[in-house]
Amino acid sequence: MGGTFDPIHIGHLILGEAARRQFHLDKVYFMPAGNPPHKRNRAGRASDAQRVEMVRLAIASNPGFALSMVEMNEDGYSYTYRTLEKLRSEYPDTDIYFIMGADSLFDFDTWRDPQRIANAARLVVATRNQTDPVAFDALLEKRREQYHGEFLKLDTPNLDISSKHLREMIQCHESVRYYLPDPVREYILKNHIYMKD
Ligand code: ATP
Ligand code: MG
Repeated sequence: MGGTFDPIHIGHLILGEAARRQFHLDKVYFMPAGNPPHKRNRAGRASDAQRVEMVRLAIASNPGFALSMVEMNEDGYSYTYRTLEKLRSEYPDTDIYFIMGADSLFDFDTWRDPQRIANAARLVVATRNQTDPVAFDALLEKRREQYHGEFLKLDTPNLDISSKHLREMIQCHESVRYYLPDPVREYILKNHIYMKD
């Protein structure tokens, strides 16, 4: 699963665990994307190193989860098709699944080289933002026809949670307890991440 993870939250973790169980995956890798130079050290955001540390803390208790630094490039631009092709050539006998939320599948056509993504991996997609189930199935079917790839539905409830909303809650000093694992919440508070003052 790729993402900005700014910060990682229970939505990401539930998706990872659900995919691991539903598709009998050996391992789920969380691949934080590097920020390009102009997006680094922005006010109200975590640094690359902090986002990585939060992923590390969040997944520590799950032996089925691991951190991958493959998308943490120095120039900050990571393209999913390149990552997946690289993983395929490194692990030619491994089936690769790429986990995403429905919002990402709606945007899929705008990603760099979506055809190569669909060639390199099975796409596992979870519902998001209260997507109508009929529209969600129609979208999956449309993508299958477009790319002749495997677009698989993850059986998860709609999880109304986003990093953006959490950043706003933290900034307003609202409690984010239970929206992210305690060690991540403690790390955020201790390092004053996402707080303007
Ligand atoms: P932001 O609000 O900053 O965009 P985010 O919560 O969307 O953050 P990302 O790091 O952008 O988190 O997401 C990484 C991947 O996880 C994306 O494919 C996204 O669709 C998926 N995802 C994140 N949160 C959820 C959720 N609550 N339900 C389903 N999918 C999710
Ligand atoms: Mg997002």
